Amino acid sequence: MFENLSERLEGVFQKLRGKGKLTKEDVERGLREVRLALLEADVHYRVVKNFVERVRERALGAEVLESLTPAQQLIKIVHEELIRTLGETPVPLDLGGPRPVPILLVGLQGSGKTTTAAKLALFLRKKGHQPYLVPADVYRPAAIDQLQTLAEKVGVPCFPTEPTQKPVEIARAALAEAKARGRDVVLIDTAGRLHVDEEMMAEAAAIKEAVSPREVLLVADAMTGQDAVNMAKSFQDRVGITGVILTKVEGDARGGAALSIREVTGVPIKFLGTGEKLEALEVFHPDRLASRILG
Ligand code: GDP
Repeated sequence: MFENLSERLEGVFQKLRGKGKLTKEDVERGLREVRLALLEADVHYRVVKNFVERVRERALGAEVLESLTPAQQLIKIVHEELIRTLGETPVPLDLGGPRPVPILLVGLQGSGKTTTAAKLALFLRKKGHQPYLVPADVYRPAAIDQLQTLAEKVGVPCFPTEPTQKPVEIARAALAEAKARGRDVVLIDTAGRLHVDEEMMAEAAAIKEAVSPREVLLVADAMTGQDAVNMAKSFQDRVGITGVILTKVEGDARGGAALSIREVTGVPIKFLGTGEKLEALEVFHPDRLASRILG
């Protein structure tokens, strides 16, 4: 992730590093390169604009121009602003409220939603929770089997969804069943579609209404870049999400979605999916990613 962006930014700062005091023109030239590097990494244009503006404001102040180590100062500002764009501190899953805690997973087909539901179940089980998995995608019967198989692999029970049931009924019945079994977190895997469509949104909204989930997590494929960001915005506007899980980040050389999604949707990235294995789920740390971007 961020291979290209890291290289570009390193190049920008390399050029400035040899200099003594920086002039305003040096800073502007540096900022122009930063802007290009971000755009090439597929970062949303509005996010790029705000980012460069914030860096410029600080860089043209005394902070950089008066500094004895101007290039380092500029790098420090870019680093801090990257962290800010990515969301400052990790935001843990909200597992408060009455047990069992319902968590809804929404997203497009192929984003990795079902795999992520199982990954999350494993993650929670390892933390001492008693999760319960719920397949609520009745349009793709294979999706029910897929989650049941994954549930077995991660050692977590799964609701025996019947394809004839309605998603809202499934969610309600599963919640009651989880309660009866003493499970504390219920992970509901909703149906995805290939593209954003009204039916999918309406269904996710109806399940949300029915079970009042503590979290609505959008699963988004990082490799789809700007599309992931626009899709996240649609889900935020239509359904209301509380967090994002970005998948397939290990195959995403540009990293634009990660840098844009927080600012465009206003919700934090909570986890990164880093591979097909069920252990390949990481808590998202803005500062670690910012450091990686700067190389
Ligand atoms: P769904 O349609 O959204 O439920 O997607 P699936 O869970 O069926 O996943 C689609 C494909 O993406 C599968 O082949 C998964 O193994 C793969 N996948 C899911 N998450 C990741 C990830 O973080 N990295 C990689 N490389 N593949 C992933």
